[in-house]
Amino acid sequence: MSIFHPKYAFHRVYDIPPQWFLDHGISVVLLDVDNTLTTHDNPVPDAMVLNWIDQMQQKNIRLMVLSNNSEARVAPFASRLGIGYIANAAKPLAGALNRALAQMKVEKNKVALVGDQIFTDILCGNFSNVLSILVEPIELESFPFFKFKRKMEKLVLKNFKR
Ligand SMILES: [Mg+2]
Repeated sequence: MSIFHPKYAFHRVYDIPPQWFLDHGISVVLLDVDNTLTTHDNPVPDAMVLNWIDQMQQKNIRLMVLSNNSEARVAPFASRLGIGYIANAAKPLAGALNRALAQMKVEKNKVALVGDQIFTDILCGNFSNVLSILVEPIELESFPFFKFKRKMEKLVLKNFKR
């Protein structure tokens, strides 16, 4: 398996049933924000996302936001969801992920990381040996740097079958 390939892929985060995580031995899920839980810089979570988070918590699956975006963006969003967060996470680097796991006192084999970007979220999960799950970006970004990244992702995913 390529380091660039997610272990699993879904369309949206709420397409992953809470029971699926339990069946895979997962008790902690780290969540990207932008384009995973909501559109880029949108402060309002989708009702489907809120409902999914509720279902996850009913199954006692613990959640934490792990975002590369700023404190100012991430703190109010995480508080709307009612879950903890780490901002400025610098994914794919493992530092913030390791801090999250230490805070939650959980071993790596019980952790999944869900995100929409190969070069941050999926690499971060794969480097750290946590279960990497790719979701499709909710809305494609219009700025040029992102367009470039999305092209590169397509190339990398060409050989990946979910
Ligand atoms: Mg994202």
